[in-house]
Amino acid sequence: MQALMMQSQLMISSILTHAERNFPDVEMVSVTVDNPRHRQNYKTFAKRCRQLANVLSSLGAKFGDRIGTLAWNDYRHMELYYGISGSGMVCHTINPKLFPEQVSYIINHAEDKILFADVLVMPLLEALKAHLGKVEAIVVMTDSAHMPESTLPNVLCYEELLAEQSDDFDWPEFDENTASGMCYTSGTTGNPKGVVYSHRSTLLHALAGSLPDVTGASTMETSLPVVPMFHVNAWGAPYAALMVGMKLVLPGPKMADGEALTDLMNSEQVTFSSGVPTIWLALLDYLDSNNLKVPSLTRVSVGGAACPRIIIERFRRKHDCTVVQGWGMTETSPLGTIFSLKKGMEDYSEEQLTEMQLLQGRGVFGIEMCIFDNSGRALPWDGEASGALKVRGPWVAKGYYGLTDVPGDEGCPVDKNGWFDTGDVASISPDGFLKITDRTKDVIKSGGEWISSIEIENAAVNHEDISEAAVIGRYHPKWTERPLLICVLQEGKSLSSEEVLEFLKDKLHKMAIPDAVEFIDELPHTATGKINKLGLRQTFENYEFPAA
Ligand code: ADP
Repeated sequence: MQALMMQSQLMISSILTHAERNFPDVEMVSVTVDNPRHRQNYKTFAKRCRQLANVLSSLGAKFGDRIGTLAWNDYRHMELYYGISGSGMVCHTINPKLFPEQVSYIINHAEDKILFADVLVMPLLEALKAHLGKVEAIVVMTDSAHMPESTLPNVLCYEELLAEQSDDFDWPEFDENTASGMCYTSGTTGNPKGVVYSHRSTLLHALAGSLPDVTGASTMETSLPVVPMFHVNAWGAPYAALMVGMKLVLPGPKMADGEALTDLMNSEQVTFSSGVPTIWLALLDYLDSNNLKVPSLTRVSVGGAACPRIIIERFRRKHDCTVVQGWGMTETSPLGTIFSLKKGMEDYSEEQLTEMQLLQGRGVFGIEMCIFDNSGRALPWDGEASGALKVRGPWVAKGYYGLTDVPGDEGCPVDKNGWFDTGDVASISPDGFLKITDRTKDVIKSGGEWISSIEIENAAVNHEDISEAAVIGRYHPKWTERPLLICVLQEGKSLSSEEVLEFLKDKLHKMAIPDAVEFIDELPHTATGKINKLGLRQTFENYEFPAA
C-alpha cells in the first residue's frame, strides 16, 4: 500500500525560503577583504541569493553546470552556496591552499564553467592562467573599488553583476537526488577525488547535525564556523544555521588569527564554534598569553584529526568551555560520530569526562558503522577489538566523480555489501563510542601484530621538549615492518634517541616501542594541516634501522 503523504523534494532552496520567512532579522556577520565587519540579515541575504541566481543565468550557466568557488567563510560565499545549488547547478568548493597543480587538476577534472574567487586568490589564478580548462568567466568576490588588476580574460566584479539583476527569482523544484555540491578529497595518495553531494544528502545531513546531542544548533545560539567553507561545506554549518535561524559569524581570511577570532567571539557573543585542532591551539595560546577570556563561548567542536588532551583540558579549566570531538570525512559529508554524554555519565569525574572526549564520539542516526577484521568478519563492539571502519548511510558517498560507482569494482570506495571503507582503523566501545586508532595505510604491521602509529605519536608529544611527532613503518628483516619515530623538537631544545625511548618505555606496549628515533626541523603537512605521511615515507624511503 502506498502512503498518502506529499512527495516534496528535499531542496536546498527550501532552507533559504524558510529562513527568510521565519528569521528575516537574524544576522550574518562577516569579515572580508573589503569590509572588516559586514552585517546583513537573512532577509537581505535571501534577496541577494535570488539576484545571484539571475547573475548565473545571465552568464549562461545551465542546470548541472559546475561552478567553482575559491573563497573563505563570508556572506558572498554563503550566497554562492544557496544561489548555485538552488538554481540546480553544482557548487564546487575548491581549497585555495592546495598545491597550484592540484587546484588546476580539480578545476579541469570537474570541468568548472565559472569560477568565483576571493581577491586574495587572484594571484593563484593568474599563475594558473594557462591551465584553466573550460572556465569561461572569473568573478571576483568584491566591489568595484577593490577589483584587482588582472591579465586573465573575462574577469568580472561580483557586486557589479549583482547590482544589475532583479531579486525576482523562483527557485525551481527538481529531483532531490540532483547534485548540489562537490568537494575533492585532499588526495594524500594519488589525485584528488571528487565527492558529489545531493540536495537530499545535504538536507538530511543538516537535520541530523542540528539534533540536540549532535551540535544542538538553535536560534538561541551564535555559531562561528572556523572550519573552512571550502572543506566539506564547513561541516554543514551554512545549512544548519539557516534551518534553525542561528546567527552566523564568518571570519573570512582570519581563520587562524587568534586576535581576530577573540574579537569576533566577544563582540558578537559567539556561543559555539567549530574547527580543526591547530586552530584551537592558536586561539588558546593567544587567549592565555594575553590573559583574555571568551565568556560567551560554551562549546567548540573539533574534528578532522584527533583532538589532543591539552585542548580539552585548557578549554575546560581556563575557559569553562566543553570540547565536542567529532569524526568524519569528505565522503561522509562529513558527520559520522560526535561526542555527547549518555544518561548515567552525568556524574563522571573530570578525568573520566576527558577520557570520553578523547574518543571520536558516538554514531549519529543516519550513519551505520561496523568494524571488520582482515578476513571481512564483523568485530564486536567491546572497546578492545580493532579493525577496518566501514560506514553506510544517506549522506555517505557511493562513488567518486568520473570513477565507477559499482560496488566492489576497482575505484569504487564501496564494497559488495554496500559498505564504504573509510580507511580508518577503529574500535567501538559497548556504549557505542568510536576510537580511531589509525589510518589503514599508516598502521605498522609488525610480525602478525598491528601497531597504531597514532598511539606512539600521542605518547611522544607528551614529552615537553617534543613539539610534533610522526610514526611510519619501515622495512625490517625480521618483523617485516617496525615503527620509526620522527620528532620535531621545541625551539632551542635537544634530546637524544635514547632519552626519547627511555621516556616512552613505560607508556607503550613493548612491541610498540619504536626501533629508532630521527629528528627533523619540520614535518611535511597537507593543505588541510594533516601530517603528510606519504611525504615522510618518501624522505625515509631506503631507511635502515641501526640495529637491523
Ligand atoms: P582528507 O581529504 O584528508 O581525507 P578528510 O577531512 O576527508 O580529508 O579526512 C578524513 C580523515 O580524517 C578521516 O578518515 C580520519 O582519518 C581523519 N579524522 C577526521 N576526524 C578525526 C578525529 N576526530 N580523530 C581522528 N582522526 C580524524
